[in-house]
Amino acid sequence: MNKLHQLTIHEAHLQLEKRQITSIELTEAVLARLNDLQDKVHPCVTITADLALRQARQADKRIAAGRCRPLTGIPLAIKDNICTKGIRTTCSSRMLENFVPPYDATVMTKLHREGAVILGKTNMDEFAMGSSTENSAFFTTSNPWDTTRVPGGSSGGSAAAVAADGALGALGSDTGGSIRQPAGFCNITGLKPTYGRVSRYGLVAFASSLDQIGPMTKDVTDCAILLKAIAGHDRRDSTSAPRPVPDYTRSLVTDLKGLRLGVPREYFVDGAQKEVTAAMQAAITRLQELGASIDWEVSLPHTRYALAVYYILAPSEASANLARYDGVKYGFSYKDTRSVWDALEKTRQYGFGPEVKRRIMLGTYALSAGYYDAYYLKAQKVRTLIRQEFEKAFQRCDALITPTSPTVPFKIGEKTDDPVQMYLSDVCTLPVNIAGIPALSVPAGFVAGLPVGMQIMGPLFSEETLLRIGFAYEQATDWHKRRPPL
Ligand code: GLN
Repeated sequence: MNKLHQLTIHEAHLQLEKRQITSIELTEAVLARLNDLQDKVHPCVTITADLALRQARQADKRIAAGRCRPLTGIPLAIKDNICTKGIRTTCSSRMLENFVPPYDATVMTKLHREGAVILGKTNMDEFAMGSSTENSAFFTTSNPWDTTRVPGGSSGGSAAAVAADGALGALGSDTGGSIRQPAGFCNITGLKPTYGRVSRYGLVAFASSLDQIGPMTKDVTDCAILLKAIAGHDRRDSTSAPRPVPDYTRSLVTDLKGLRLGVPREYFVDGAQKEVTAAMQAAITRLQELGASIDWEVSLPHTRYALAVYYILAPSEASANLARYDGVKYGFSYKDTRSVWDALEKTRQYGFGPEVKRRIMLGTYALSAGYYDAYYLKAQKVRTLIRQEFEKAFQRCDALITPTSPTVPFKIGEKTDDPVQMYLSDVCTLPVNIAGIPALSVPAGFVAGLPVGMQIMGPLFSEETLLRIGFAYEQATDWHKRRPPL
């Protein structure tokens, strides 16, 4: 029998609905675990215990009245770049250290309507720029499987919390891999939805043409439940898609008959750790046993430009998006100054960390007159080629299988002196955001006690297929059931 904090969302829901447990009991158990983790793993920037208990009490009333929705009374953690009304939303930056949003992101409004319980806000790389949470201005989160290693990033706090049972599920955001890479590093399930599937209203913007909010959960069923709750058109986000939201749990069947899965050879590159490649081979054999046919002939040659394209487009958009932090409108403001310009300079000098400044400078350079055509415009053109290449691949295959990351979680400090090494840990995930397509990461094995993630990519709005593949694989393995020895 699982302890309360060890339950998945769907397990807890059944017990809540049958009134075998209350949300208060569940929330207290999870909060106790989360507080414990705060000492060892540091997943959260803010824990909202009072709010959580208040929401749990309301949820119990709602359940007693017979109105138990799939997330009613379920304790969740939220990445700290998603605006929460009345709750500090820092983006793990000095710039927003004391910023309390006056409104909720659309995903939060939806969770509140469902009656979910909010445990707190999770640590991340500053403004979501990074792959390890080491760029947080406050502290680094550890990987619960080995606390000397990184949990991945930028949604590292969300991943660590869910992996170690400090939350039943969490929201993250993914601009180049920030949901999938930490999910893979921490042995949980994470989905980057199709661009436009989930509203970005109230998500603090990093690179607006790439950013998506998505679920991070203990298994694929929970992922389907959480995605359904947050997806859908929103008149406040003009890039959100006016498409109906399917019941994603209906697509969870355990065979893969009739599905054709491609293995793009560029993703099994030299830089990849050979044990990771071996784990992928084993996973692909499993998928075959489940009835899928495997296409080994898929090639995505423009993948090799994805890193360069991303590191022009994302910083360019970031340099524009982060111009708003001027010390006047909100956030940190340097006061003791001689002039307006001086105030602006000092605000940005002290408010932003080194990686954020590096991105702003890269982006400003790429967008400046004389360089715009050579960098930004060129990158946009290659973006189109990458997108077309995926479209072509999806004419042959229903989905593509790759590792989520080329390596297992690395040591804290190992890559902090070399930004390019850090950027390379996202080679497998970046192309997905460039093309706007969805991708799921599921647990797929261990190398010397450290988790390996499998990435499943699909065409636009193919979330049902991705979840079906992930579910069938998960049911045929038990990786997702393993918990870190904390
Ligand atoms: N690691 C990538 C970056 O640093 C992606 C981050 C993200 O997805 N937010 O930009």
